[in-house]
Amino acid sequence: MEFKKCPRCGNFFHSDLEVCQNCKTNEILDMQKFRSYIETNGIRACENVQQMSVDTGINSKNLNRYLLNDEFSEMVNNKL
Ligand SMILES: [Zn+2]
Repeated sequence: MEFKKCPRCGNFFHSDLEVCQNCKTNEILDMQKFRSYIETNGIRACENVQQMSVDTGINSKNLNRYLLNDEFSEMVNNKL
C-alpha cells in the first residue's frame, strides 16, 4: 500500500481503494449510474462525455476517469 491522492476530493489517503473513505460511497453510486447509463444508451454514448455528465449528474472529470478504468475496458470488450 502507498499514499494516494483521492481523485474526487484531493485528500491524501492510505488504502488499496481508488478513492478515500469519504468519497467511497459517492464513488460506488457514480460507478453504478455510469454502468447503467451505458447499458441503457450503449457504448457510443461514451463519445459525448459532456452529454453523459448532464444526463447522469456525474462530473466530467470522474467520467473521464471511469472511461480509462480497466473495468470499463472489460465492459466494452464483452459487448463487442
Ligand atoms: Zn476523497
